[in-house]
Amino acid sequence: MRFSALRILKEGLTGNKGWGAHWRDPEPKAEYDAIIIGGGGHGLSTAYYLAKNHGLTNIAVLEKGYIGGGNVGRNTTIVRANYFLNGNSEFYSHSLKLWEGLEEDLNYNVMHSQRGLINLFHSDGQRDAFVRRGNAMVNQGDDAVLLDREGVRKHLPYLDFDNVRFPIYGGLLHPRGGTARHDAVAWGFARGADMRGVDIIQNCEVTGIDIENGAVTGVQTTRGAIKTKKIGMTVAGRSGQVAAMAGMRLPIESHVLQAFVTEGLKPVIDHVISFGMGHFYISQSDKGGLVFGGDLDFYASYASRGNLPMKEHVMEAGMTLMPMIGEAKVLRSWGGIMDMTPDGSPIIDKSHIDGLYVNAGWCYGGFKAVPGSGSVFSHLIATDQHHSEATGFRLDRFRTGVGLMDEEGTGSQHNLH
Ligand SMILES: Cc1cc2nc3c(=O)[nH]c(=O)nc-3n(C[C@H](O)[C@H](O)[C@H](O)COP(=O)(O)OP(=O)(O)OC[C@H]3O[C@@H](n4cnc5c(N)ncnc54)[C@H](O)[C@@H]3O)c2cc1C
Repeated sequence: MRFSALRILKEGLTGNKGWGAHWRDPEPKAEYDAIIIGGGGHGLSTAYYLAKNHGLTNIAVLEKGYIGGGNVGRNTTIVRANYFLNGNSEFYSHSLKLWEGLEEDLNYNVMHSQRGLINLFHSDGQRDAFVRRGNAMVNQGDDAVLLDREGVRKHLPYLDFDNVRFPIYGGLLHPRGGTARHDAVAWGFARGADMRGVDIIQNCEVTGIDIENGAVTGVQTTRGAIKTKKIGMTVAGRSGQVAAMAGMRLPIESHVLQAFVTEGLKPVIDHVISFGMGHFYISQSDKGGLVFGGDLDFYASYASRGNLPMKEHVMEAGMTLMPMIGEAKVLRSWGGIMDMTPDGSPIIDKSHIDGLYVNAGWCYGGFKAVPGSGSVFSHLIATDQHHSEATGFRLDRFRTGVGLMDEEGTGSQHNLH
């Protein structure tokens, strides 16, 4: 089934009876060439690119819940390529380029909106840091525009520019940054993978990883044992638990990150705004809700719900930046389980077990990474070679200390990321 304007017109005129399910609901087979554990953004995009770029179609994605139920459907939908360090910079740039052709590629409307992202700064030191970041972005081939205070005011006149603690000095505008509809991204990749023959199996929890003589032989699941020689692990916040099934201990802590949405409002915020000093970021969804978030809850947890002190902190940060937000009613809040690495950068690597590949540690950056991660991880699984845009995400950097990518400059303290 292909989507097109003509098809929408035809269905509209004939009672919308011709739309089918977006993907099949197959029973698991006894054996696959490769199994992807976790049907979030990364698992689905990996399966999609394995089929599309590498012709591997005897693949299953095993998802313990339902497609879109994890972080891929819980994030604040920000898509950007404004990373500073080598390693991250080229990877996120690669990912943003894939985003820019994604809707045509998937034949699916993921509502990718490049409305521009503005990172605010509030001191001379922070301005210097953003100038350096902007230069790194431009050197990478991405876009960055330094705005002074009046430049920011032109775009975002409703901010409190003269807050005593956080007066606004200016901002770094990333015009190609923006948002996308998160669950549509999961559905689009699921549909695309399914159309190429991938089995997407929901309600199928992996409970064990079978290993013989140092090599993967299959998985145990709540729907029976399945044989395979290759396993890609893309379980985000559950990475530590699933790695433990293979006897591995990953340098990852799982933390809760909350997000919030207000009632629908008329268009008021037409950019993504990031207020790093106050740990607050915000955009407006196409339905009109103001979608915003802050920082982690500051203790490790597998609960997908957050604590009250962080709610209070985020609301205070919002009021500091834009007092008008106090007029809006918060509709709901939720939490997701974040896979945090000590250097704030991800892991895409082979493990010491033959056939077991690890994709984890996405911290705050995992949604924007979805297409890029799938493209480079599928390359690793199919060829056993690291993709040129993801050579820095090695697991052994945490053992050797060589090649750490400490994007936030916060060292190994998780709660400072
Ligand atoms: C509140 C919040 C806001 C965020 N905002 C942004 C943002 O604005 N921009 C951005 O880039 N990133 C953001 N992120 C981060 C981003 O959402 C995640 O890094 C990314 O979605 C994680 O990858 P995923 O989509 O594959 O994860 P998930 O969707 O969580 O997928 C992992 C899947 O694995 C499944 N699974 C786990 N264990 C098993 C098992 N044993 N067997 C089978 N399946 C299993 C889970 O059920 C889950 O569906 C945010 C995250 C949160 C929580």
